[in-house]
Amino acid sequence: MTVSQQIPVATLGVPRIGRRRELKFALESYWSGKSSAADLLTTAKALRAANWEEQRDRGVSKIPSNDFSLYDHVLDTAAMVGAVPSRYGWNGGEVPLDIYFAMARGNQGQTENGGHGHNYAAHAPSLTAMEMTKWFDTNYHYIVPELEDDQAFTLSSTKPVDYFLEAKVLGIHTRPVILGPVTFLKLSKSPADGFDPLALLPRLLPIYQELLSKLKASGADWVQIDEPALVLDLNPNERAAFEFAYGQLSTATPELKIMLATYFGSLGDNLETAVSLPIAGLHIDLVRAPEQLEPVGRLAPKDLVLSLGLINGRNVWRANLLSILDRIKPTVAGWHLDRVEIAPSCSMLHVPIDLRMETALDANIGSWLAFAAQKTDELVVLARALSEGRDAVADALTASAEATAARATSTKIHDPLVEGRIANIKESMKRRTSAFAVRSQVQAGALELPPFPTTTIGSFPQTLQLRKARAAHAKGQLSYVDYETFLKKEIEAAIRWQEEIGLDVLVHGEFERNDMVQYFGEQLSGFAFTEHAWVQSYGSRYVRPPIIFGDVSRSNPMTVRWWEFAQSLTQRPVKGMLTGPVTILNWSFVRDDVPRSEVCRQIALAIRDEVTDLERSGARMIQIDEAAFREGLPLRACDRESYLDWAVECFRLASTGVQDATQIHTHMCYSEFNEIIGAIAELDADVISIETSRSAMELLDAFTNSKYPNEIGPGVYDIHSPRVPEVAEISALLLLARERLSDAQLWVNPDCGLKTRKWDEVRPALKNMVAAARALRERV
Ligand code: GLN
Ligand code: ZN
Repeated sequence: MTVSQQIPVATLGVPRIGRRRELKFALESYWSGKSSAADLLTTAKALRAANWEEQRDRGVSKIPSNDFSLYDHVLDTAAMVGAVPSRYGWNGGEVPLDIYFAMARGNQGQTENGGHGHNYAAHAPSLTAMEMTKWFDTNYHYIVPELEDDQAFTLSSTKPVDYFLEAKVLGIHTRPVILGPVTFLKLSKSPADGFDPLALLPRLLPIYQELLSKLKASGADWVQIDEPALVLDLNPNERAAFEFAYGQLSTATPELKIMLATYFGSLGDNLETAVSLPIAGLHIDLVRAPEQLEPVGRLAPKDLVLSLGLINGRNVWRANLLSILDRIKPTVAGWHLDRVEIAPSCSMLHVPIDLRMETALDANIGSWLAFAAQKTDELVVLARALSEGRDAVADALTASAEATAARATSTKIHDPLVEGRIANIKESMKRRTSAFAVRSQVQAGALELPPFPTTTIGSFPQTLQLRKARAAHAKGQLSYVDYETFLKKEIEAAIRWQEEIGLDVLVHGEFERNDMVQYFGEQLSGFAFTEHAWVQSYGSRYVRPPIIFGDVSRSNPMTVRWWEFAQSLTQRPVKGMLTGPVTILNWSFVRDDVPRSEVCRQIALAIRDEVTDLERSGARMIQIDEAAFREGLPLRACDRESYLDWAVECFRLASTGVQDATQIHTHMCYSEFNEIIGAIAELDADVISIETSRSAMELLDAFTNSKYPNEIGPGVYDIHSPRVPEVAEISALLLLARERLSDAQLWVNPDCGLKTRKWDEVRPALKNMVAAARALRERV
């Protein structure tokens, strides 16, 4: 190895939200009219400065700028290239803040909803927001650009240039980050059926060229262009688009060097395309795809700078730096290290900011973790080890190896009982006693439900009073007895009201839950919770995912007493209400020392125990929510089957340990089922409820009887909107559903839980829903 200088360290992007969630509070204060745009922009500017200075002080040499966004970087890109749908009334020029936020959230003052697992499109009555969807396989959601087939683009913001100059004033030379044109178009919504947004590439590229030349003129020497689409399955046309785009961009500003960033997986069959592009640098994800180091090194031109994504930007575990160095050594040993940069696998947007804020965390567990700040330090150690030799950072390397070793052997993570149970899983534990056709007869006899039974998805409004009581209890200001009394009153009122309006299958209302994953995680062993470890989910919504650090087990029933209390109040069936293993897994930071499938099996057994206890207590129906089942779907088609196999297996492990007469429900908050319908059918839940109200039931096409014989409750009430649906609208949706499903299959329910709604909206809406179901019963 020959080294002429210190190997550069890049972070690719850091969290934007602020250590104390300053951005959230500034945004929400601005939206509610309590503070001015100037206040918001001042907070944002201070956050950027703090991020740049912190990275400089930690030794980062390729400090990103324009990784910051007030809301979302994809929305920023749409606004920057002038892709503002006409309904927002934009007249050219810089996109004003209020149009920008209207694109993100509609023009309604209130944020529309929270909670997990929705396609959070806010539906304002007068001006709708753009759609939102998951950013690749992360839990970050971006705003989906909407393009017209004759879309014109113009450079309507110089944000990347402005931020570059802003850092320059602070004496910090940054490497601006922009979302690449091909990924941008590929993530955009097609303007018309059969229209490929990539056809707009020739129109879009001049905007990027203009931007790059402005960056160059401002003094930038490198730019990071993110093209994560390069890790997806691409067709030849899409690969050609990369060649075309980068050919154009590199000839327009040859002096501005492009670091093309790929992440979230392997380049795979796009590798040759990537290394042959006329770029100066290529970033590769070596956490998800360590095996690509060797072929990339071999096939890349010798003057292509390779940015090695060695530290996990998607998880919270401290790395074993020694083993990383050992792993890459055989490949990089012969390289000229001028060719190398050290980086996280992807932008650190997806990890919390600083572990040092977690003062209440168990010390052992804390010593196994690294958040963005600690990961940055890890990058610097790796770079120094490579440029100065391992001795220069011997202490840090030893410490990291010791922490890994301590974690590997800790009794906190290994529970022989759990590991024994996993080893003893029998095939018979993964299937119901009888087939659906048989069970459904037994259940029909036992439950005596009317045709088109009505129910809800589980949660009722989380009122201010309820949230206050929970907070007071958490702070020790409200005793457990008083808190429980309060919750029981809520449950009782909910049960009475559901009976009164004539719902057929009742729920207790989930008043005791803060969050559908956290509530369970807090009662399971193997989970840790943080105080400040927020990560952005979308806009001003941040989540604090639980950390699954060890073997998972359940020592006591988690929901039985609430269910028992609710059922004691009524003759009608009350559904037991659980979150499924796949969803708990997909919404957590998961340990990396065993396969995800293994962790999921452990959670599944814990949920199975809960299901057994509910049944033993008399529950006739148990709903196991899998809101995030689809979220875990791998990016590449070739990886999907194995995910679906173990995900289905885990749901079945959790749900099949019951008698034929016990009806298992599941719920999923979306309805794009086409590519996974086979797996959904294999779950073999007796009833599934899904979100369909906004799609006029078209999305039910995936469920036609031949593909899906079990019962289905397609949502007939859009819970994302404060609007109360009329009886006639619900009836119309039910008619559409009946065109696709048999009457015997059809349930009547809202799209999702009602926790984010107000009682004043929920009461009339559910009454209308019941009325529509009754009217239908009379007609058939
Ligand atoms: N039972 C949960 C609720 O009603 C389901 C929520 C979800 O799937 N996102 O809130
Ligand atoms: Zn839902």
